[in-house]
Amino acid sequence: QKTIDQDKRARVLAIANQKGGVGKTTTAVNLATALAACHKKVLIIDLDPQGNASTGLGIDRAHRQRDIYRVLLDDMVMADAVTPTKVPRLSLVPSSSDLSGAELELVETERRVYRLKDAFHSVLRDFDYILIDCPPALGLLTLNALVAADGLLVPLQAEFYALEGLSHLMQTVERVKQLYNPELKLHGIAVTMYDRRNNLSDQVADDVREYFGDLVFKTVIPRNVRMSEAPSFGLPALLYDWRCQGSQAYIKLAAEVLKRDGERFRKPAAAL
Ligand code: ADP
Ligand code: MG
Repeated sequence: QKTIDQDKRARVLAIANQKGGVGKTTTAVNLATALAACHKKVLIIDLDPQGNASTGLGIDRAHRQRDIYRVLLDDMVMADAVTPTKVPRLSLVPSSSDLSGAELELVETERRVYRLKDAFHSVLRDFDYILIDCPPALGLLTLNALVAADGLLVPLQAEFYALEGLSHLMQTVERVKQLYNPELKLHGIAVTMYDRRNNLSDQVADDVREYFGDLVFKTVIPRNVRMSEAPSFGLPALLYDWRCQGSQAYIKLAAEVLKRDGERFRKPAAAL
């Protein structure tokens, strides 16, 4: 018996920002885990050749044979590359080092910006959410994510140069909307690695709110050492330390995401 009704299709969110180290992967992994804790079925696509989401979810190299590269470039059916994780209701399509060549190889393919969107057909009905962890660039991989997505979620690190590059990202979104995906929406901006002892953090949060208003999530993700420790154990922070401030912030972020999508938020009963 199917647990998800037949007409339902997954909401696809691209987690993107062409800057590295701003919290894309941490957000993809922990927002996905938080949504799973809130009873949603979630799939993460690790679209970064560095494979940090795959490592952070404890998927070792031996279990990355069926990976996103083969889906995009070898016509592997995506459903066959879906790999379970330690988190109930959370699965992953892993990345592999082959993906580092994909930017160039995609140029030669048919429907090169639609490869990911086309591949989603085999999994859309099996999940409530699909989160795409994008690489730190605005190349063909990120373009595939934006073309396949319903919404873009931008992690923004609370530091001095945070807003730099954001206008370029917004121009890219406009171009994608005009050319390939008119339905694409800016789902929200999440301020990450916020340090309340640092005035600059407040300044950045204020600036981005002034510019983007309610598109900025109310929940701010604090800088928290438990967040940075978790990936080395191959665990999402929410499994590593459910009660730490960072984990709890991602639960709140999940609640906001669900609210924006008109979904009911059922508070997770207990730690995963
Ligand atoms: P990106 O995917 O954008 O490159 P990551 O999510 O990998 O960024 O984060 C960059 C680094 O910052 C990683 O080492 C990660 O563990 C750390 N980090 C991310 N979010 C937090 C946080 N809230 N508190 C502390 N460290 C964090
Ligand atoms: Mg990353």
